[in-house]
Amino acid sequence: MEKEIFDILILGGGVAGITASIYAKRRNKKVAIIEEMLVGGQLASINEIENFPSYDNVSGFELMQNFQKQIKYNEIQIINDIVQNVNFEKEIKEIICKNKVYYAKSVIIATGLTHKKLGQNEDIFLGHGVSYCAICDANFYKKQDVCVVSQKGSGILGALQLADVCKKVYLLDSEDMTIYAKACPKKNIEVISNANISEIYGNMKVEGVKYLKGSIMETLSISAVFIELGKQPLTEIYKDKLKLDASGYILTNEKMETSVKGVFACGDIRAGILKQLVTACADGAIAGQYA
Ligand SMILES: Cc1cc2nc3c(=O)[nH]c(=O)nc-3n(C[C@H](O)[C@H](O)[C@H](O)COP(=O)(O)OP(=O)(O)OC[C@H]3O[C@@H](n4cnc5c(N)ncnc54)[C@H](O)[C@@H]3O)c2cc1C
Repeated sequence: MEKEIFDILILGGGVAGITASIYAKRRNKKVAIIEEMLVGGQLASINEIENFPSYDNVSGFELMQNFQKQIKYNEIQIINDIVQNVNFEKEIKEIICKNKVYYAKSVIIATGLTHKKLGQNEDIFLGHGVSYCAICDANFYKKQDVCVVSQKGSGILGALQLADVCKKVYLLDSEDMTIYAKACPKKNIEVISNANISEIYGNMKVEGVKYLKGSIMETLSISAVFIELGKQPLTEIYKDKLKLDASGYILTNEKMETSVKGVFACGDIRAGILKQLVTACADGAIAGQYA
């Protein structure tokens, strides 16, 4: 069977990928987005947006719905699959996904950022008490005790959001947080400094955590663990194929071209100085125009 070759395949359907697809489609290209989850990307986890032009205040969900409508209006194909590897060596690029291999003359990488992991046994409890998004999942733990895993204050915002709905929020930070503990505006947040989680335990769902404070092992009974350690680019599959910066972000020129001809990158995954919705859209527009 003859293989289907796209003009442009866009990896990731966040705002960067969506904007790229609109610009590419308007150039009459055969284009598709490969997205593993919902089109909209990080938008789903934003409560309120106050800096997206033409809106005074909008929820990430509302903006996501508008982007989805625009995808439909422009008849852009969405392929629901997970990109697992790539082959950029030949003129026709190969995108190796979980279900199938896809082929394209040009590729735009727009897979954004991923949550930094704790590196303990969190995977087995994912969706059963382990979450990476306080805004998205706080309501599942209304009036319950939860903990936030934090590093140098990375979990403060998440803890404050959880404190509005949960009974008690333990903020476990690996650094000394004494100054923040004194200034913390919520009475139901207990800040625990110099704490490193060594185990999440439970039977089918999270029941508690064990953590080391100095050399002493302590235990907390809680219903959920929110891992708020920040985000990083997931560029492992590109590291021998494209030029990356020291933090793993993909290097591009101003046309969003990477070090390989026919391969572009845009949005949060590329080495840029501002990681916001408007900059992701701007990157996407350029990539969609020049790919
Ligand atoms: C809590 C929070 C609040 C924010 N608030 C604001 C704000 O108020 N204003 C603002 O301007 N910006 C804000 N941002 C930043 C903004 O959301 C991002 O800069 C922007 O969404 C980045 O878009 P992107 O398309 O580059 O990446 P993403 O939105 O991360 O999209 C990447 C997409 O790729 C998909 N993907 C990843 N890996 C694969 C794979 N292997 N296979 C297939 N698909 C894959 C993902 O599922 C995702 O849909 C906020 C971010 C967060 C997390």
